[in-house]
Amino acid sequence: VPIEPDPALTPTQLRVRTGLLDLGGARPVFDPHLAARLLEELEARATACLDALGAPPPPPYDRRDRPLVVVHKRALAQIHQCERHWAAEEAAGFAWTAATARGAVAHKAIELGAQVDRQPLPADVVDLAIARLIDDERGSGLWLRTATEGDLAELRARATDEVTKFDDSFPPLARAWRPRLESRQVAYLAGGRVELSGKVDLALGKPVGCEARTLIVDLKTGRPSGLHAADLRFYALVETLRVGVPPFRVASFYLDSGTWHHEDVDEDLLWSTVRRVADGVDRLVALRLGTRQATETPGPPCRYCPARPECPPGQAWRPPEAWADPDSDLDRPDADEPDPDGPGRPAAGGVGT
Ligand code: SF4
Repeated sequence: VPIEPDPALTPTQLRVRTGLLDLGGARPVFDPHLAARLLEELEARATACLDALGAPPPPPYDRRDRPLVVVHKRALAQIHQCERHWAAEEAAGFAWTAATARGAVAHKAIELGAQVDRQPLPADVVDLAIARLIDDERGSGLWLRTATEGDLAELRARATDEVTKFDDSFPPLARAWRPRLESRQVAYLAGGRVELSGKVDLALGKPVGCEARTLIVDLKTGRPSGLHAADLRFYALVETLRVGVPPFRVASFYLDSGTWHHEDVDEDLLWSTVRRVADGVDRLVALRLGTRQATETPGPPCRYCPARPECPPGQAWRPPEAWADPDSDLDRPDADEPDPDGPGRPAAGGVGT
């Protein structure tokens, strides 16, 4: 596709506009009953699993009720890699770190920058983002309030780097594109006992009838990982359940290289994701109810797994010699942020690492 010259845009911004956003390109039209069929299958699988394992029935609706399991991209990745790893991370709970706080600040800064007409300086929107987040009782605020001056300076520098890379890679986000940043998406199954939860870094566009016109982008620092495609497919499924029409495309955008991986969404992608999610729900419910012993599957997550000190298979696992950087944790699933509705329940993460 020829790239139209635009002296105001960098060549990478032009590539993104033409190759990733594909403005003016053809868009697929989906079956209006597709979302209902996907939901029906997920409902049937989740309900059968809960009934078979003797889970308590769904309570009358009360906002304070917690789902039995919350399925987010990180839980799915962990449960399909090593069940005991998931259980160990659940037991350890979520804690804000410099990396997750930096991601929250950078994404908030991109979000704020997209809402003002003038082109703000990255360092200014990072300061604005910190000022907005620091008083947040439920998010990264506590980490920000207790960070040392040096930690904050480093966070500022790295978040500014991410925002700058976004600015010089993406064309300015036009309001007509309906940009949504840090956008939560949720679907409930089995009377609310199972929650599918995602948080999309960036979504552009909206469907017109059953014509898919939404692009979902996960912003990443670091190298590509095989896990990222699975994360994107999960977002595509939950978005389809939420709005009734799939996104036309999902993509991981790598800020350090100005490159991306994308997949165009079709029914096969969504049905294969339904199977992956349903299998994950089966395992998560059984582990949560204690009807299943967590299995151990040694592999790359052993390098950062909290269970490793008590896990002989994990201690015995060694990365292949061919790995250029065996200590890298770039294939580590994205960190999640705690659920803003309450403590103790992890929610979907959008903090790219
Ligand atoms: S150390 Fe490895 S095998 Fe053991 S629980 Fe953790 S990820 Fe699984």
